[in-house]
Amino acid sequence: MRFLGYFKCLSIAALLLGPIACTTVPETGRSQLNLISPSMERSMGRSAFTNLKASTPLSNDQNATAILQRVGSRIAAVADLPKAQWEFVLFENSQANAFCLPGGKVGVYTGMLQITQTEAGLATVLAHEVAHAVAHHGAERFSRVLVVQGVGLVLISQFTKMDAISKNALMIAYGIGTTLGSELPHSRLQESEADRIGLIYMARAGYDPAEAIKFWERFAEYNRAQGGSSTPWFLRTHPLDEQRIEDLKRLLPEAQLQYRPRGTEEPPVTIAPTLPKQSSKTITLINPKTGERKVIPWKPGMTIYTARRKAGIRPTGPPQLTRAGKPRPAKPATTLKAGDVVRWK
Ligand SMILES: [Zn+2]
Repeated sequence: MRFLGYFKCLSIAALLLGPIACTTVPETGRSQLNLISPSMERSMGRSAFTNLKASTPLSNDQNATAILQRVGSRIAAVADLPKAQWEFVLFENSQANAFCLPGGKVGVYTGMLQITQTEAGLATVLAHEVAHAVAHHGAERFSRVLVVQGVGLVLISQFTKMDAISKNALMIAYGIGTTLGSELPHSRLQESEADRIGLIYMARAGYDPAEAIKFWERFAEYNRAQGGSSTPWFLRTHPLDEQRIEDLKRLLPEAQLQYRPRGTEEPPVTIAPTLPKQSSKTITLINPKTGERKVIPWKPGMTIYTARRKAGIRPTGPPQLTRAGKPRPAKPATTLKAGDVVRWK
């Protein structure tokens, strides 16, 4: 079966694209079409994460942040993601949401913690999200779109050189959009693959994989309590139904074989914090012509006018300011605060 899958993948790649572009998913051995190089993925992940950190407030909860670092480092230590530059950041936002961008950039919203509740619950979410990145699911989805559209590889050789529209399409394929607002649900196959790999990673990191089932049951309960009127972003991209929990139960024995409760003999891997020193002291400006985001250092007394001049952006209309996620009235002379986002009409 695996051979057939690989053969099919090779045929599609050879027919349509010339260069061979098939990769194998770790743990499951599935062969997938992948036209995006790992280095381009990493570059995209870094760029998107820098923008997110500049535009979304970080949590001040030091205890929760320390727990995220601890659980994250244990999952990272067992994940098969070569050259990953791991970073785990807790964002202050009441939505239940978590994601892993390509290259190991992981974000968790504080709203997710009410559902994860325990370290094993958090490990469930992190392992699942990391599994999507390890399996290059975003790259796979984007590659399929490219094949369907018959778009050449030229377009996607370098993320930094892509135009804003292609960048946005790529981000949407990764389920992150430019604002985390536009999403594309993972396919059933990818979800179930991330569940399977996630369970194995949890177990290897020393967390009981059976806790994953409790987490998804809590999530289902949370969603029911919301009345289904506002399905959280996370559930829109990770559809949850009865079948999923049944499948997890079926996958559990395979993961249980690898479960070793964590002893004290092995110190957790330390993750070098790669948050830039001025992560919260930046201004994000969105170029009205290209849609590109420019992040510049914030300085006291900086106005929209001076920031725009510094970023080399020409205005197309009146400025629009977003502060702490909320729109604010703005003029060119408006004084900016660190973390502000400015765009033009
Ligand atoms: Zn998922």
